[in-house]
Amino acid sequence: MTATLESDRRADLARVLAAVPTGLLIDGQQRGAADDAVVTVENPADGQPLLEIADAGEADALAAVRSAAAHQGSWATTAPRNRSGILARAAELLDRQQEDFALLITAEMGKPLAEARGEVAYAAEFFRWFSEQAGHISGSYGLSADGGTRILVSRRPVGPCLLITPWNFPLAMGARKIGPAIAAGCTMVFKPAPQTPLTSLALAQLLAEAGLPNGVLNVIASSRAELITGPMMRTGALRKLSFTGSTEVGRILLRVAADTVMRTSMELGGNAPFIVFEDADLDVAVEAAMVAKMRNMGQACTAANRMYVHAAVATEFTAELTRRMTGLVVGDGLQPETQVGPLIDAASQLKVRQFIDDALDRGASVAGIGSVPDGAGYFCAPTVLTDVQPGSVLSQAEIFGPVAAISTFTDESAVVAAANDTEWGLVGYLITENLDRALRVSEAMETGMVGINTGVVSNPSAPFGGVKQSGLGREGGAVGLEEYLELHYAAIPVR
Ligand code: ADP
Repeated sequence: MTATLESDRRADLARVLAAVPTGLLIDGQQRGAADDAVVTVENPADGQPLLEIADAGEADALAAVRSAAAHQGSWATTAPRNRSGILARAAELLDRQQEDFALLITAEMGKPLAEARGEVAYAAEFFRWFSEQAGHISGSYGLSADGGTRILVSRRPVGPCLLITPWNFPLAMGARKIGPAIAAGCTMVFKPAPQTPLTSLALAQLLAEAGLPNGVLNVIASSRAELITGPMMRTGALRKLSFTGSTEVGRILLRVAADTVMRTSMELGGNAPFIVFEDADLDVAVEAAMVAKMRNMGQACTAANRMYVHAAVATEFTAELTRRMTGLVVGDGLQPETQVGPLIDAASQLKVRQFIDDALDRGASVAGIGSVPDGAGYFCAPTVLTDVQPGSVLSQAEIFGPVAAISTFTDESAVVAAANDTEWGLVGYLITENLDRALRVSEAMETGMVGINTGVVSNPSAPFGGVKQSGLGREGGAVGLEEYLELHYAAIPVR
C-alpha cells in the first residue's frame, strides 16, 4: 500500500472513532457512569489508546435493568413484522457500513481487516436470519388424549435478558444474541467485553438508526463485570442470561443464575480435536486446518486445539501445514499485507508462550516457527509443534493462539477415545474421503458440532453450541430463537 492509502485508512479510522458514542446507553440516553469512572480502550497492535469511554458501576447497571424491565411490556406487544423490519434494516446498514465496522473491529481487537470484513458480513447475516424468523413464531391448538381439554400453546418472549459477550468476535457475538432477542420481543441489558466495547457502542447506534425503540437495548460497557453482574441478576427483573466466554466465568454465572432461576444460554470454552485420516484429501485437510487454526489468530472457541494426524500422512500434512503457517505475514491488522494480527493482550501472549514451553519440556518438537514484526503489539509467531504429548497443557486447555499441536495415531477407535477425553465438547473436525467413516466418527464425537472436510462450522442458519462443559443451549438456527421464547399453555375444557 502506498503511504497515501495508508494515511487514508488512518484518517478513516479517526473518523469512525470520532463517531462512536462513548457513554453508557440507558433508556435511550447516553450518559456517563454515576461515579464518573472511565476506561481506556487500546489497540492491541501497538498498545496505543483508541478512546476513553464510560465505565459502568453497580448503580448504572441497576439503572439499565430498570430500563429493560420498564420497556418489556410494550416491546413484547409490537407486531412481529415491526421487529423483523428493524432487523432487516440493521442488516442492510451493516452491509453499507461494512468498512467502518471492520476498521473498528480491527482497531480494538486486532484481527486483519479482511477477517473483520468477514465478521461484519457474518453479523449482518444473523440479523437477516432472525429478521426472517420473527414473523414465524407460532403455537399450536390441540386436544388432550382423553378428548376433554383443548390445549392452546403459544410462544412469548422470555423477558428482559442479560447479554454478556467476549472480545474475540466483538460484533458477531453481540449480533447472535441481540438478533433473536429482538425477534422474540425481549428487552436487553448488553455488557460487551472490556477489551472491545467500541464495536458494541457503534452497533447500538446503528440499531437505533434501524428503528429500535429507546430502552429496548441498554448497553453498559464495564471493566467491573464481577461487581455489577451479580447485583443485576439478583434483582429478579432479568429473566434470561446469554453468556459467551470462558467455562470458568460461565460456572460462576450459572451459580448466580440459580438464585433467581434464570433461563441460561451458555457458550463456553472448547478443546476441538481435528482428525486427519489416512484416506483424507490432503489439500482439503491443510486448507481446513489453516482455517480452523488460524482464523482470528487462533482465538476462537472453535479453534482446532489438538490435531491428530494418521501416521501414514503425518509427514506430508505437517510439512505442508508448516509451510503455509510459517509463511503468513504477522502484523498490524490495518496493514493490507497482514494475514495474522496480534493477540488481544500481553497476558494472552505470555500464556501462549508458556503453553509452548510446557509442550517442549514434555517432549514435543518444533516443526516450524514464523516471524513477528518488531514493536509494541502483542504478536505471536505461528508455530507448528509435533509429538505433542497428551499430558501437555496445550492438549488440555484452550490455546487461543496460532499454535498447531500435532500428534499422530494409527487406530480409529483410539483416536476417537483421545478426541473425547476432555471435559469440553464444542466442536470436532474430521477429514476423510470415506463416507461410512465420516458418519461413524461424527456420531461417536462427544461434541455439539462436527465439521466434516471443513474447518468452519459457524453459520447463522445452524444451531451453534456445545455439550459437556462447553455450554448449554444453542445460538443460531431456528432453535436460536426458541432460546428467547417461553411456552405458554392454556387449558380450555370441551363443553
Ligand atoms: P475471556 O477469557 O475470553 O476474556 P471471560 O469469560 O473472562 O473470557 O470473559 C467473557 C465475558 O465475561 C466478558 O464480557 C467479561 O467482562 C465477562 N466476565 C468476566 N468475569 C466475569 C464475572 N465474574 N462476572 C460476570 N461477567 C464476567
